[in-house]
Amino acid sequence: MTASCRICGGTTRITHRATVLGRHEATYRMCDACAYWSVDEPHWLDEAYSEAVAAIDTGVVQRNLHLYPRLASALVRMFGSTGTYVDYGAGYGLLVRLLRDVGLDVYWQDAHCENLFARGFEWEGSRPEAAAAVTAVEVMEHVTDPLAFVDTCLRDTGAHSFVFTQHLHDLSADPSWWYLAPEAGQHISFYAPRTMPVLAERLGMTYHSAGTLHLLTKRNFRRGAFARSVRFHRISYALLRRRLRSRVMPDHRLLAGQVCRIGDRVLQA
Ligand SMILES: [Zn+2]
Repeated sequence: MTASCRICGGTTRITHRATVLGRHEATYRMCDACAYWSVDEPHWLDEAYSEAVAAIDTGVVQRNLHLYPRLASALVRMFGSTGTYVDYGAGYGLLVRLLRDVGLDVYWQDAHCENLFARGFEWEGSRPEAAAAVTAVEVMEHVTDPLAFVDTCLRDTGAHSFVFTQHLHDLSADPSWWYLAPEAGQHISFYAPRTMPVLAERLGMTYHSAGTLHLLTKRNFRRGAFARSVRFHRISYALLRRRLRSRVMPDHRLLAGQVCRIGDRVLQA
């Protein structure tokens, strides 16, 4: 049984127990120091991911439509429009497609879910240039070891920045908090505002907050720059739509060319 905090190594206490997936008992514990709140040894994850995006997630489309103008604006403002980005835990690939439609060069990585919307743009990890940043939307609550996860993302992409979404808990350890979602058994890691700087420090990074969007980075950004990039997204999004060229048609031509080449090889064989 894990007794010490996986982020800061501090002591933890059990907050409650709950039934996940209708039949497994989960023990939730919170760190006394950094307030990282997690589930002990979630042995049911294979079962929980048998359908990768839980059937109860009715918010998937609404969430992506809400997020993509904000995220596109923040990425361009902080890291520029010419670099590559990698979306970890991309799910069906809807966000990757939306960001490519805006004009950003975004790829995806996901060990659990079949990609439906951004096939052909898998991150192969063989590019000579480092990614400008990694994004991870609705992912950090799914990981068993947040430090190792962020570290792996950065190492595999060469990126120095990690942008992610997360609802932070309010320290009340309320067992009925909706974000715990024990029905699906996938949410196992929860963070408070005070967890974030500790997480950053452990990774040799700094932390910047913008509501439910968060940035961990090894670069030096002015305090508040990330929050402003999200807050003023309407103006910057309108400008970048005018400036950037959508990848809808270039991507179509690229993929159509690949299909033709595969067809030629089949005919020649
Ligand atoms: Zn801790």
